[in-house]
Order: sequence, then structure tokens, then C-alpha cells
Amino acid sequence: MYYHGYWKGGEMNPKEIIERCNDMIKRLAHEAYGKQNSEAIKDINALDEVIEIVEMREPMKPMQAELDVDGSPIIPCANCGGELQRIHDYCPWCGQRIDWSK
Ligand SMILES: [Zn+2]
Repeated sequence: MYYHGYWKGGEMNPKEIIERCNDMIKRLAHEAYGKQNSEAIKDINALDEVIEIVEMREPMKPMQAELDVDGSPIIPCANCGGELQRIHDYCPWCGQRIDWSK
């Protein structure tokens, strides 16, 4: 369970959550087939959002720093390419959680 910024307990890891969401999407896709604006399509859209949120919560290492014209390093977010500062635990541009460990 995601709780106050930490994955706690052994219930389900992010990979399992994403797998389950994808399985649900597959099942719902049959129900949604040919029906626009159905509840099944809304469920699929919600599950897509859940997958995105879970992926964002997993820390991602930033990309290799590039040097600015004045020689100061620019550290791009690996998810969106937005510029990161060392103080950011989450990318201010896309919300990706950042892993600053070496
Ligand atoms: Zn980003």
C-alpha cells in the first residue's frame, strides 16, 4: 500500500499493480468494444491514469547533466526532459519522482 510516501507491507508492488490494471483493461476492452462513452471506457481511462500515477511514484534517475553556456550543470528529468534542481524530490514539470542516489 502506498502510504505517506513509502511502499509499505508486502501486499502489492508497483509492477503487480500495473499488471493487474492492464489485465482489467483487457477484460474491459471486450465490454467497451463498439460502445462509445460507456462505463467500461470510463473505467479503462481511469485505469490508464492509475498506471501513470503508479509509474510516476517510482523514483527515476535523472538524465546525465549537460553544461549550460556558463558552465553550470543542467539536469534534465528522464521522463519529460524538464530541468531539475537538487532540491526536487518530484519533477516540478511532470510530477515524476526523482531518484538522486548514485
Ligand atoms: Zn519531468
